[in-house]
Amino acid sequence: MALRPIKNCFDPVLRKQCEIVKNIDGELITLSNDMIDTTLAAPGIGLAANQIGVPRRVFVVNMGVETDTDNLITLINPEITAMEGSESGKEGCLSIPDVVAEVNRATQIEIKAIDLNGNDIRYEASGILARALQHEMDHLNGILFWDSLGKVRRDILKRKFKKKLKEQEE
Ligand SMILES: [Zn+2]
Repeated sequence: MALRPIKNCFDPVLRKQCEIVKNIDGELITLSNDMIDTTLAAPGIGLAANQIGVPRRVFVVNMGVETDTDNLITLINPEITAMEGSESGKEGCLSIPDVVAEVNRATQIEIKAIDLNGNDIRYEASGILARALQHEMDHLNGILFWDSLGKVRRDILKRKFKKKLKEQEE
């Protein structure tokens, strides 16, 4: 078990357009295992590779989030293939701890990806899981959940988070 430090939202790696994964090798398996351990320890619902400083198109998500069971899976080169509906809901991010905001997301989505065995996988999701998948997908494109909020609201949250970081340093 290896935990990796989670980068905060001011680290430039969180703004990176992450690179397509070409090979599923030992390094990627280790990355995936570490991401699962790090997510469980945080604890969080999901984690994108760039949140631990690796700008590649990989994220892990807890598929059991709606039923309170841990079932973390790794999605490689994921793509959202369908989106339906819109709903507002509370959202947070492991890279912006203790900051929560209402964010609009599609209610239902379809996502495809590759698993660690190189097989094509496809999921339909709704509710919290759909929200989590959209949130992690955004990370791979360098987007943070507060980007969709108005500037005033975002600046308030940023100030709050900066203050918290400062308090931790002292
Ligand atoms: Zn996040």
